[in-house]
Amino acid sequence: MAYQALYRTWRPQKFSDMIGQEVVTKTLKNAIITGQTTHAYLFNGPRGTGKTSAAKIFAKAINCLHPVDGEPDGTCEICQAMDAGTLGDVIELDAASNNGVDEIREIREDVTYAPTQANYKVYIIDEVHMLSTGAFNALLKTLEEPPANVIFILATTEPQKIPATIISRTQRFDFKRINAQAAFERMVYILKQRDNTYDESALHVIANAADGGMRDALSILDQALSFGDGHVTLENALLVTGSVTQTLLGQYVQAVVKQDTKAALAKLAEVLEAGKDANRFVEDLISYARDLLLYTQAPELVTLVPDEVFMQLAQEREAVLWYNMIDQLNETQQQLRFTNRPAIYLEVLTVKLSQPITALVQNIATAPEAKQEPAKVTTTKTIEQPPVAAKSESITETKPAEVPHKPAVNVHVSEDQTAVFKVLAEATRGDLNRITAVWADMVNMLPVSEQAMLNVSRPVAASANGLVVAFNFDIIRHNAMQKNDLLQTMLTQIRELTQAAHERQLVFITSDDWQQLRAKYVAQLPNQHTQVQSTPDDMPIQMDEPAIDQPIEQADNLVTEAKNIFDEAIVEEVDD
Ligand SMILES: [Zn+2]
Repeated sequence: MAYQALYRTWRPQKFSDMIGQEVVTKTLKNAIITGQTTHAYLFNGPRGTGKTSAAKIFAKAINCLHPVDGEPDGTCEICQAMDAGTLGDVIELDAASNNGVDEIREIREDVTYAPTQANYKVYIIDEVHMLSTGAFNALLKTLEEPPANVIFILATTEPQKIPATIISRTQRFDFKRINAQAAFERMVYILKQRDNTYDESALHVIANAADGGMRDALSILDQALSFGDGHVTLENALLVTGSVTQTLLGQYVQAVVKQDTKAALAKLAEVLEAGKDANRFVEDLISYARDLLLYTQAPELVTLVPDEVFMQLAQEREAVLWYNMIDQLNETQQQLRFTNRPAIYLEVLTVKLSQPITALVQNIATAPEAKQEPAKVTTTKTIEQPPVAAKSESITETKPAEVPHKPAVNVHVSEDQTAVFKVLAEATRGDLNRITAVWADMVNMLPVSEQAMLNVSRPVAASANGLVVAFNFDIIRHNAMQKNDLLQTMLTQIRELTQAAHERQLVFITSDDWQQLRAKYVAQLPNQHTQVQSTPDDMPIQMDEPAIDQPIEQADNLVTEAKNIFDEAIVEEVDD
């Protein structure tokens, strides 16, 4: 018998076989139990996270003759036909290869015929975002007048490419990346069932390399198994993924942050001598730095298993250091694409990473006094002087002279008080809520390094024409302002996701500046019994708490108005 890939053999047959998507599977099972299914679903999520599997299980469960708690029984004739791939009432279409209008037109005709064997006809359209405009229009017509007993399941990795008219007619489910621990446990389960043995560390390496995709994890596991005679060794896992050990990564990062160039170069030599792939090494470093960045803010998102070196690095160093590192790694990654001498670029990278710039940034960020001082300078100058000049001055003060400083001339983004006040003058809670609701989706569409930048930022005020984003670190704010691609993506995605008529002007400021500016804005509102209380410096801004969509025109007075625009903590009325 021909060898069947693990991910096929171990494709989940029931909702309970699926890992890492508890919310999705629970909701779908309940819908089947209560008979409250709808005629169109949108399954959104990264590749390899179980969208197609869930669609097939759903098709099976809803048609199963003897379902058990919303699960298919797996034994009735419908289930068996489905497993054998012979159930004609479940139709799969891969939009990546069938993006034409004709196929969808065929479906439009086909849906008018009742199912032959099962109760429901289920159409599963994979990679639905690949459909052409014409095909989407044809699909829309079907969704507008859904025939009885027909269910569409649209699966996609890129929901932003699907017309809003389609999305609004579906019930949307977001599939998450499989976290490394869940992937690890699934591999353990499969290996035990197969009577294979394994090194635990090997499975951790594979889970990390798979980056949230279970299918990828099982493909890598397949390869590692084929090398190892039924035993998965760490060596083989590292070989198949081209990874270096976490220990070595940790030692390398430790050396560069200590500015021990010699030791860092020695570690690099060790990596290269072992014949490791340069790109994989940079990839691994990026995820290592990403994990360090996330560890203090969102530990549940960390993919590796923290060891002593990692914990030490994460606890002793500031986020800004990791951001800076990711940025440099990204640059090197680009350079590696155009060279056949990667070692040179890795050596240059290593020297750059162990330069004092990183250490200096880290000192600024960690020393409590130094931390406040530049922020104050920036704030005062931003308010009282031309903003661009103020920013470059504050940067010269806080960074060494050799740091290249490009002036912020990007048309998409501003950073001054006038721009902030302009947004505040037209701001509504509704605009802010709409943006806050799609913010995470927008961030998820960005490359990892840019996600890391926006993870320390948040939308704080918005109007139909503008959006103020506050950053926890000035250096990250500054860097984000230089990134044309990032800004353009933000503009487009926010417009599309909020279904706005046009793009909003972006205004990037620091969280400290935001606190000052919003207080100043409220203070200059012509309302005599308003007393402004600044929030304490150490209090995190919480502009994104959910509130009722209430346009400010309906507000009774300016105090209520101010409360509606941002949060209530800063405005306090005095009892006369
Ligand atoms: Zn059945």
